[in-house]
Amino acid sequence: MSMKLGIIGGGQLAWMMGDAANKLGVELIVQTPGQNDPAVSIAQYSILAAVDDAAATEILATKCDIITFENEFVNLTALSLLEKNGVCFRPQLAALAPLLDKYEQRCYLQDLGLPVPQFFALSREKEVESQMENLGFPVVLKTRRHGYDGQGTFVIPDFATLSKIINHSKAQFLVEEFVPFTKELAIIAARSVHGEIVIYPTVETLQKEQVCRWVIAPATITKEQSLEIEAIAYKLLNSLQYVGVFGIELFLTAEGKILVNEIAPRTHNSGHYSLDGCETSQFEQHLRAVCGLQLTNTTLNCASAVMVNLLGYETSQSDYQKQRQQLAEIPQATVHWYGKTEARPGRKLGHITVLLERNNRNAINDIIHKIESIWCPPGKICQNFPE
Ligand code: ADP
Repeated sequence: MSMKLGIIGGGQLAWMMGDAANKLGVELIVQTPGQNDPAVSIAQYSILAAVDDAAATEILATKCDIITFENEFVNLTALSLLEKNGVCFRPQLAALAPLLDKYEQRCYLQDLGLPVPQFFALSREKEVESQMENLGFPVVLKTRRHGYDGQGTFVIPDFATLSKIINHSKAQFLVEEFVPFTKELAIIAARSVHGEIVIYPTVETLQKEQVCRWVIAPATITKEQSLEIEAIAYKLLNSLQYVGVFGIELFLTAEGKILVNEIAPRTHNSGHYSLDGCETSQFEQHLRAVCGLQLTNTTLNCASAVMVNLLGYETSQSDYQKQRQQLAEIPQATVHWYGKTEARPGRKLGHITVLLERNNRNAINDIIHKIESIWCPPGKICQNFPE
């Protein structure tokens, strides 16, 4: 009988597990709020409920052998009752617990001795001015919970802006130094039930307005930097006793220093290139890990790969057939279209990966430029192209 895997969350990350699930003979059952959510179409069965609806997860648990996450914004306290009663979550809830609050995550990383930007939790009781003593402007303000794609991340130029945001919000905040990085890097790593670890190549990512625009694999970094990043991944996976795939976002500074920005305890946008560019995709690897299978080869199957997110630039119900077709005609390109029913500015509608026979930055920039000119009609604001 085939393995039944429950997934909390039914967006594009779960949707991209579909092919791997078929290949491995795994049945997917998703818990997601919307009938039109991408993964509903590839699931054997869907429970239409919010990801933090633990009562729905209790039902999900009766229909599958193991439960995993495409979205970590769950109600951990409520789920731990289920875990106590024998529901098998992979990763186990204890591995998620230190990561869901950005401040607690930072403390966890720091306690492990990993390099992180300077940070503190903003206290409402104390004067903000006195708390800012050690940090000059600009600073980066982040809501401690439920931030993604830069929602809840603000670069703050001065004290007046900081006060205004805090006074108008009930959220709890993390404040950190603004890191004038030269590059953003990311790495995907996976750990199996037996503690075996595999690591993908470190990639370079570009975020604009806090949203990932494109990813280049592999990143052009030194061997030492690459080893340091891999060591960070090993340390984190092992100390969390993590099972599954996770992504680590990092900053590289002008002095060549590496700082960990954030961990995402799930498959990650920076690993989408692996669907086409690696021997095993991050999605298959995640299924392998959480289903107790052996992990497999993560190597690149090309000299380099570039992945560009196709972000919405208008509110529309178009399926952008024409643009998608033109994009698909780029040599060595694969377009992944998430089938969302509505486009909105900034919404991730799909992505395209192009594989290259050489690792040449000019050629990569040309491809990004070409993708942008096809995807984005003249006069619309799309900001994929590096400045
Ligand atoms: P999210 O969880 O919403 O993805 P992140 O913490 O990853 O938020 O921040 C999103 C982006 O904002 C980062 O990729 C980076 O470009 C920018 N950013 C975040 N923190 C800092 C920082 N301390 N200094 C400079 N830029 C930052």
